[in-house]
Amino acid sequence: MLGKEIPVHTPKWKLWQIVILLAVCTIGTIPSGADDAASGIVDSQTFLKKNMTPAGPPASASAASVERLLGQMTLKEKIGQMTQLEIGMVTDGQGQSIRINPEKLHKAVGEYGAGSLLNVNDEALSPEKWQGIICAIQEEAKKTRLHVPVLYGIDSIHGPNYILGSTLFPQPLAMAATWNPELMLRGSQIAAAETRKAGIPWNFSPVLDAGRQPPWSRLWETFGEDTYLASVMGVATVRGYEGSDLSSPVNVAASLKHYVGYSYPTTGGDRSPALIPENTLREYFLPTFAAALKAGAHTVMVNSGEVNGIPGHANGYLLKDVLRGELGLQGFVVSDWMDIKKLVGEHHIAANEKEATRIAVLAGIDMSMVPSDYSFSDLLLQLTQEGKVPVSRIDGAVRKILTLKFQLGLFDDPLRGIDSKTLIGSPESRQVSLEAARESITLLKNENHTLPLAKTAHILVTGPDADSLIPLNNGWSYTWQGDRASMYPKDRATILKAIQEKIGVANVTYVPGTTYNKEVDIAKAAEAASKADAVVICLGEWAYAETPGNIADLTLPDGQIGLALKIMEKKKPIILVLTEGRPRIISRIADPANAIVMAYNPSNEGGQAIADILFGDVNPSGKLPITYPRSPNRLFTYDHKVFEGDDWGEGKVMAAQFEFGSGLSYTSFSYSDLHVTPATASGSQTVQVDVKVKNTGDCAGKEVVQLYLNERFASVTPPLQRLKRFAKLLLQSGESRQVSFELTSDDLSFIGADNKRVVEPGVFDVRIGGLQQSFEWK
Ligand code: BGC
Repeated sequence: MLGKEIPVHTPKWKLWQIVILLAVCTIGTIPSGADDAASGIVDSQTFLKKNMTPAGPPASASAASVERLLGQMTLKEKIGQMTQLEIGMVTDGQGQSIRINPEKLHKAVGEYGAGSLLNVNDEALSPEKWQGIICAIQEEAKKTRLHVPVLYGIDSIHGPNYILGSTLFPQPLAMAATWNPELMLRGSQIAAAETRKAGIPWNFSPVLDAGRQPPWSRLWETFGEDTYLASVMGVATVRGYEGSDLSSPVNVAASLKHYVGYSYPTTGGDRSPALIPENTLREYFLPTFAAALKAGAHTVMVNSGEVNGIPGHANGYLLKDVLRGELGLQGFVVSDWMDIKKLVGEHHIAANEKEATRIAVLAGIDMSMVPSDYSFSDLLLQLTQEGKVPVSRIDGAVRKILTLKFQLGLFDDPLRGIDSKTLIGSPESRQVSLEAARESITLLKNENHTLPLAKTAHILVTGPDADSLIPLNNGWSYTWQGDRASMYPKDRATILKAIQEKIGVANVTYVPGTTYNKEVDIAKAAEAASKADAVVICLGEWAYAETPGNIADLTLPDGQIGLALKIMEKKKPIILVLTEGRPRIISRIADPANAIVMAYNPSNEGGQAIADILFGDVNPSGKLPITYPRSPNRLFTYDHKVFEGDDWGEGKVMAAQFEFGSGLSYTSFSYSDLHVTPATASGSQTVQVDVKVKNTGDCAGKEVVQLYLNERFASVTPPLQRLKRFAKLLLQSGESRQVSFELTSDDLSFIGADNKRVVEPGVFDVRIGGLQQSFEWK
């Protein structure tokens, strides 16, 4: 780890850097984040124990009211409840001139009785504008025979989307890099309150797809490749959204998505088929959903793609037997965008939309995100009248939809939240976002203490992502693609602006060098580099969401690589800052770079957070929630099976560029006294794991203690290791602490060849911070 050697020919700015670092260390200005204040430690096991209580009121509280209402409904009214339409079905105009069209609204809600509407506008709207729209919709619903309120849903993936001025947080992949579920919980509470303030009580989040396919264009929406880390973060999100009472004006219902296997397309492209053997599906893809359902999540959205030849929307086994039967979903299942129609045109399992509707509803879809016509309602009515879909199936779906509306308190007050005290985008909320960004940013390389930089140094800032909020945010930011500059707040610092604020405009030269994929002025940037003390090259991606984000090559575009290589010729200290939603290959520039900072999509406060880390005002503590690949043809996760060839063939090229769980600090930590007791255990016994961690450097810093486990021999080839527990803790310089975890037989189990969970006797190795101890399970 990092020591404090002073290079022989230390330049003046570098000496200043050391003075600054020592100052930071002495006064201990490391923000403590949203830790459990009393203990300064957030451990995954305690967090889960504390947060597995589902939101009330329970479904049973509204059961009688639901049955009474259901008993009064016509078939058409019931099918209306199962219909979800997009906002354009009740409005006219685009952008800020969007307005309710009373005739359209009457048709959708008055005549068809649409149970739900959803986001989608090409621009974000002010909270007041939203409130006006939602009021008009609920007014129309009040005029209907049974006054059933409309359930409005939105994609607030990283804070309220489509709402101007809202607090946006680092995208989920970045949140996973904090390894701090308390921060995730806090951010989700804020996102829920601000979303509900706009009048919207349902959020299509969290994305619980396992991020195990690096090129996939939605990787940044996930909590990364590990099942356990993603489960903990997923539970934190659900608890933050749903709180202890769903009807409170600060809570929203969660929708877990995209059930299941969506994230593992064989081609790497969005919405393309996946092949996932059932034991693998159960081992790596289902547990995140299982945990979030245990934490009480009320709805689930379905995978648009197909797994093993069966489209998600037609997979009765996964939707009924597994999701309801095994995982215990009580709430309802919503389709994804237009996906019943796609059973005809894309999946080719139905000859026409009527047949597709029959298949999907019988497979377990309770609500269809149609979203732009009335075909679903018309066809389902026909199918039910013809006896091809039993009324009991319709009743089953509507019962669950009405139950959620009762639980959200919509029957009492469909506008609940609008009058709440919540302030959208308050300074306190932005501070939480800043803390999260600071804790997520991951220092991947820091040769010879290149970082932190001295505030007296003259810095060249270059690269396509240096001076825009767009790549700091990525998709689902004010708009679907997140690429409308005019929607972004004017007072938030880009990376460039934050660096200028930190060290003064006179100390910063800025030359863009390239766009995302085209050269602009590389020669000029290289020239400026020769006059600078150090160069911060801001590389990565622009904004994208879903299929428009498909790429044919995971490698960072040539222009960006070319910019970095040209600047590297000047032999100045080079810091690469990566703002990207997936790990773009950087092997040609990673070795010559002196420092590498992975910033993911840290959102609107990310510019400041990056500058805080570059100049030592914050000590980095993020850890990679993915394996960063070195080459595009060698993609694997940290928990892969043993394979030959890491030291054969092209040697190093076969290894990861950066490993899952890795991330440096400006201080150093040492591990000792790993004890695993008892040495032999069985049945309901627990295995106690204790380890001592010490901050051996000069700065306060946060460390993520990670417990990995592997079974030496098993009937299904065991992975090299699996993450089983983690804890994030703050340690002052010289401070040491003991961290303890408990393992139960569940943690030793895996999915056997028969697709059932099993615990096999054998020897298990526990690894923490480079130490290893074993125990035997009998
Ligand atoms: C996406 C979903 C999203 C839905 C509604 C779909 O295209 O796959 O994740 O919730 O649109 O916006």
